[in-house]
Amino acid sequence: MTLARRLAFVLFAIAGCAKPSYLGATVPKPCTNRDAEACLGWMAERDLAAAELDIYDDRALRRYVQSIANRVAKRSLLPTPPRVIIADRDETYATSGRRIVIARRTLEKLSSEAELAAVIAHEVAHVEGRHGIVSLFGRPPDDGFVNRRDAEAVADERGVWLLEHAGYAPVAMASALRVVLEAEDEEHPLRADRIARVTVLASGRTGFHGRDELLARLANMVVGRDPRLGRRTDSAWVVSALGIAIELTDVDLIRADQDVLALRRDRATLIAYAVGAPWGRELSALVEDREVVKSEVGNVVMGTLPYGARRDDSPLGKLARAVRNTLPQPSAGSRVAIVIRDKGALVIEIGGRSVPALLLRTATPGEVAASEPTRRSSMRTGR
Ligand SMILES: [Zn+2]
Repeated sequence: MTLARRLAFVLFAIAGCAKPSYLGATVPKPCTNRDAEACLGWMAERDLAAAELDIYDDRALRRYVQSIANRVAKRSLLPTPPRVIIADRDETYATSGRRIVIARRTLEKLSSEAELAAVIAHEVAHVEGRHGIVSLFGRPPDDGFVNRRDAEAVADERGVWLLEHAGYAPVAMASALRVVLEAEDEEHPLRADRIARVTVLASGRTGFHGRDELLARLANMVVGRDPRLGRRTDSAWVVSALGIAIELTDVDLIRADQDVLALRRDRATLIAYAVGAPWGRELSALVEDREVVKSEVGNVVMGTLPYGARRDDSPLGKLARAVRNTLPQPSAGSRVAIVIRDKGALVIEIGGRSVPALLLRTATPGEVAASEPTRRSSMRTGR
């Protein structure tokens, strides 16, 4: 069963709750109107922005990608176009509530507006077919479509149709699949089969390619990993998005993986990562045996995350809890230190018997400058 369906029955019971909120925002109508699917879509977007700091914040680019989705969805059976969100994700996927999460890494690979429209058309077909949470690469959903291969084949085929009827060159579906699909897995039709099939469907049809149009819009876009959520230097772990640095010592055993710092010091382990400020505030409100320590970067709330914290067993409370469980967070019973800043919060989980000395300081201008991500400098040419 999909999360949406599993929880749908729960929402049917909701009646007149007083302005419930989720991650610091009042929940919209679908969450109080028995529409679990749309409510989950809203929560998924809220998670990206307010908890995971994974929204790629470029309004002009989002508007452009949305305009392509509007154009592609016009001939679909959907009453309104899906809402598009661009995120720092590895995969592009459709979520409950008619949302399409476009991975910045997908955008990096594409060469024309028609290819982008092809990726969107494939996801629109999943939304239209109510295939649940699926992606172009396909993290298999817990139940989902009886046959994932069928779902992908349907989305490819329907996508070619939508693409052509939106005025785009339908051959772009084949070139988009070629660059976006990398791994083979048993859940998916073979990459080569999918490409061959959409090539046949598109043969002899023409349409708009828009190579320069896409590349102009993607000029200056961040490429590769964005180091602003965590970058290791010789002497510090710098989270420039929050303006914070953690001093490292020579005796630390350090593992810095993506946006997470893990280290051993004085027989203790520390795990540090950035989250959104609303999520950081919710976590710090839960802390027990709290102690507030002043530091150069602001108040540090220290304490223990309790087991079975205040349970809200209203229907919406249960839904919100299920979604919250998927967010980055320390496990119950861990000792934590949380620093809340304007743009987000730093969560530090402390394991082991001792609490090691930890120097948190403001990131220097040089460290912030060195954390700037790589950007596309200009339009690529040739191929
Ligand atoms: Zn798919």
